[in-house]
Amino acid sequence: MSNRYSEVWNLDTIFPGGSRSKEFKAHLEALETELTAFQAEMDRTQEEENEDVDLWADYVNRAQEVGKKAREASAFISCLTAQDVTDDLARLLGGKTKQLASKYASVMTTIDEQLLSFNSEQWGAFTARDDMNQILFNLNERRENAKDKLSGDKEKLIQSLSVDGYHAWGEMYNTIVGRMKVEIEENGETKALSVGQASNKLSDKSREKRKHVFDRYEKAWAQESDLFASTLNHLAGFRLETYGARGWDEVLKEPLQINRMKKETLEVMWQTITENKEAFVKYMNRKAELLGIERLAMYDISAPISENVSEVSYDDAADMIVSQFNKFSPKMAEFAQKAFDEEWIEAESREGKRPGGFCTSFPLSEQSRIFMTYDGSASNVATLAHELGHAYHQYVMNDLPQISQRYAMNVAETASTFAEMIVADATVKAAKTDEEKIQLLDDKLNRSVAFFMNIHSRFLFETRFYDERKNGPVSKERLNELMVEAQKEAYCESLSDYSPSFWASKLHFHITGVPFYNFPYTFGYLFSMGIYAKASEEGAAFEEKYIDLLRDTGRLEVEELAIKHLNVDLTKPGFWQKAIDFLKQDLDTFMELTRK
Ligand SMILES: [Zn+2]
Repeated sequence: MSNRYSEVWNLDTIFPGGSRSKEFKAHLEALETELTAFQAEMDRTQEEENEDVDLWADYVNRAQEVGKKAREASAFISCLTAQDVTDDLARLLGGKTKQLASKYASVMTTIDEQLLSFNSEQWGAFTARDDMNQILFNLNERRENAKDKLSGDKEKLIQSLSVDGYHAWGEMYNTIVGRMKVEIEENGETKALSVGQASNKLSDKSREKRKHVFDRYEKAWAQESDLFASTLNHLAGFRLETYGARGWDEVLKEPLQINRMKKETLEVMWQTITENKEAFVKYMNRKAELLGIERLAMYDISAPISENVSEVSYDDAADMIVSQFNKFSPKMAEFAQKAFDEEWIEAESREGKRPGGFCTSFPLSEQSRIFMTYDGSASNVATLAHELGHAYHQYVMNDLPQISQRYAMNVAETASTFAEMIVADATVKAAKTDEEKIQLLDDKLNRSVAFFMNIHSRFLFETRFYDERKNGPVSKERLNELMVEAQKEAYCESLSDYSPSFWASKLHFHITGVPFYNFPYTFGYLFSMGIYAKASEEGAAFEEKYIDLLRDTGRLEVEELAIKHLNVDLTKPGFWQKAIDFLKQDLDTFMELTRK
């Protein structure tokens, strides 16, 4: 069967030659030279106490250009390391790229210092310039954030100490995970699996097998838990020390700031979810019945109910995605077609690829690349649509100033989830049998449970852990306890088994790039659901509104974004309730179809 669309991406149109690319090497060298010279020039200007607003505006513009170059490099590295995990050269270049990213961060710190040091008259003149006025939100934001931090030299010192004292703990975590093996018995043989391979088997059709793998998986993490307790305590300690030095007493301050959202919004979101959990517990109980067990265990939640679901070829998936997108937005459909035609997607199933999926964008080339492994399942089709949603989000922002293109994780998942929902809904509608429909609905509801319960448990755990960590290191036994308590609460005590080692097995607690890598997921999911509900009502008229909303994701607080483009107040339960009600339609259909 010949394929119409390539399942292997084309990286040569960005830099030819992969990790041996001369062009990429030259790009890195030029970038390093430019960053060094730029920093030196700004340092001199600062020393001379030159506060010429036009000169500094020029620096801001140059910083945006150099920012694009740095981003282009790190995007290329993510693609290289994902397509072949054994590419040592790519990993080496990755180290270099990180150094350059840190130099770029210093450049931005210098600019922040200057923004802060302008007096009100200078600030007025600076922001009255057309180019600066266009990015006023971002300039104000940086200035306000800088006010909240220590002086520039101290912040730069923290940045440089964090390479070995903070990020290193995150890397150590990855090193330990990379070495771990999960031993399982299969067909009378003992097999040593990587944690990634083992975790794939956690959704096996056979409950006995799931339970076996789960037990061994938990055991493997428990065995290393003293190391993980150490990495987690140290990186949390570094974070808390930094917050303390800046005079911040609230752990959520930084994550909320990064996500440009109010604490009220976060609280009302969790509150509304909690009030609606009962319905989802009913779904989980029904699923237990269908699986012939009394209560679901942690390892049953994403177990399949049926395996009789049709597979979809890559070509058919591509055509289906394009035609479904077209119903909501011809522009989005056209964009997706372009991504397939121009080989932006790496979907081939082969050895040596990193697991998971992502989308990364190249600001200089104004292109994106999508990475995943396509096996023909309905969830693969959804993932493909999801990543295309990310790429489209970037695409509609391409002509904006670089500083206004940077959106946070909570809105990052908006376009992706929206795209995914379009396709997942269409797949359910196209189901040939009730059995297939039930399975597809189960996939969707499963996601709601993940966002409302699993992510909630992570949020509860992390909040409580950081509270206790303020008083000193937290033991692994206590971490296990905190984890199970959080899971029981988040899942409304509805499960028969919990996962005490989850704090160790979940990478997200150990990510140093962004703190609290959890609640933004749930926010993004429900936010996009609210948009999807609106799009379903408005049809084609929604296209332009949707584009306008996406374009503002890098230059508005989320509460303002919602008022401006959706006319809703995120600090009130109404919006959240409506989004949840929308999801409950699937729940009702599921309950209806599975009633005996
Ligand atoms: Zn995503």
